Amino acid sequence: MPISIAIDGPASSGKGTVARQVAAALDYQHIDSGALYRALAWRARGLGVDWGDGPALAALVPGMALRWERVLGTASLRLHLGGEDVEDLIRTEAIGQGASAVSKLPEVRAALLQLQQDWGRSGGVVMDGRDIGTVVWPDADLKVFLTASVDERAQRRFLEQQRRGVATDFDAVRQELVARDRQDSERAIAPLRQADDARLLDTTSMTPEVAAERVLVWAREALDVS
Ligand code: C5P
Repeated sequence: MPISIAIDGPASSGKGTVARQVAAALDYQHIDSGALYRALAWRARGLGVDWGDGPALAALVPGMALRWERVLGTASLRLHLGGEDVEDLIRTEAIGQGASAVSKLPEVRAALLQLQQDWGRSGGVVMDGRDIGTVVWPDADLKVFLTASVDERAQRRFLEQQRRGVATDFDAVRQELVARDRQDSERAIAPLRQADDARLLDTTSMTPEVAAERVLVWAREALDVS
């Protein structure tokens, strides 16, 4: 039977890359839950809705017509909003900050929870985020919590932004990362934390391939007992 795999961790811990590789190896789908918070922040900005207004933000969710489209030949899904592929539009640092701001609000988390739970119901999905193992799928067959040192994560993000041609400064990237970690870990609802039954993997000195291989070993063990 296909299993559900929850991968949580702080920004730039490698969870997206690892989740994608694990999903590809198992022929599962990969869902990046952060994209939902990003899409909401992006939509709100376009409509002039304040990133601090929980009820107004939650009211946007039903009309967003969120849909995942599979990229041919890969395990990756791209998020479509109202028929438009928004993957590239939501990946900016500003929208990342917006996602972190809107994700603090209880109305927003409640509005997005059901969507995430519905998507994983039948198994065969790897979902990554901050609260998948603790809140979204407390019964996931495998839970993994990825970490890496702040300097390593800042370096990864810095290189990623350079690759995308975004002018950046390492210290600014590091500061933003620390601020986002703090905001995500200290919020009252569904804060970033390792589930009690999650396996911890420190990826500081690991390539994404090695990290994914470790998770695959655990996934195969979980498949054997499912
Ligand atoms: O993973 P990513 O950096 O794209 O997520 C953007 C923001 O969305 C995070 O900083 C976090 O505040 C929020 N988020 C969340 N719960 C999730 C996934 C993301 O609160 N499951």
